This record gives sequence, C-alpha cells and structure tokens, in this order.
Amino acid sequence: MLLTRQVLSTHFDARPSNVVPELIVIHNISLPPAEFGGPWIDRLFTGSLPLDHHPFFRTIPPGRVSAHALIRRDGEIVQYVPFHERAWHSGRSEYRGRAACNDFSIGIELEGTDDTSFEAAQYASLSALIRALLVAYPTLSREHIVGHSDVAPGRKTDPGVAFDWARLRASL
Ligand SMILES: [Zn+2]
Repeated sequence: MLLTRQVLSTHFDARPSNVVPELIVIHNISLPPAEFGGPWIDRLFTGSLPLDHHPFFRTIPPGRVSAHALIRRDGEIVQYVPFHERAWHSGRSEYRGRAACNDFSIGIELEGTDDTSFEAAQYASLSALIRALLVAYPTLSREHIVGHSDVAPGRKTDPGVAFDWARLRASL
C-alpha cells in the first residue's frame, strides 16, 4: 500500500476535450536546490512559497506551476492534482511532434537533483505509482514514459543523469 498524502493545489485546469493521459513525464525538484525534506515544494505548488525565506526562491520564474505527484526522499507520495486534470509541469514542450505535453501527460516529480542518486524508496514508490496509473488509465503505456529533458531539450535537464531509467523500466 502506498503511503500517500494529498495537498490540493489550485494550479491545474481541465485537459482539452477528448484528450486523455498518454504520456508520463518524470521530473526532479528540490527547494532550495539540493536541500531535501522542507515544506517548500508543497508551498510552491500551492502558490504560497515565502520568497523572503531563501535567496533562491526569488530566482524562480514567476508563474503558477504544479505536478500531479511528488515522491519524497523517503518514498512518500504527495498528490497535488487529480490525475485526470491538467497539471502545469512541462511548460513549452513537445513529444514526437505533439506540442504542449501538459495536455496529455501525467507529471511526477522526484525530490532530488540531476546528479544526486535517487533513493531506493523513491524507485519503489515511482514504480508502484506508475503501475497503478497504467491500470487506471489504459491509454498510458510503458513505452511512453519520458523525462522532462526529453520533451523540453535544451531548456530542461531533469530528471538528470542520476536517474536510473533501466532500474525503473526493469521494475514495471
Ligand atoms: Zn521538470
């Protein structure tokens, strides 16, 4: 059973009509960068990040962002947006010639950095979450799981070189 917490964000809207989830996009995030365990990701995704708390926070481009879920270092899954809704995680992006990946994707963040090994508990939760999503949304598939860097090359580098794609794929 997954340990899950819900922190409902208002940073989402409806997918375009007749558009269903067909892609899973993996990200990483940490706030401030490379510091783990704080409440700041929840605060960012709910529009309540205190900009005075850390100098880095003022460098984050303004705008409302979110992801469907975050997997913390201990494997805890935090859900921000219902999976059938459109979360705002990929920005300007394209997958196999199709633009605006948020329309047709589910965005999952891993608490981490591009070059820090992710925890075994994170791989376990990520695998369990994806397997549950594959059951819930038959339009998803193991073949359509990518990184943010794959759909926004040159602009984004996450989930980064430390993310073990072979390990994820072997677990699905
Ligand atoms: Zn990302």
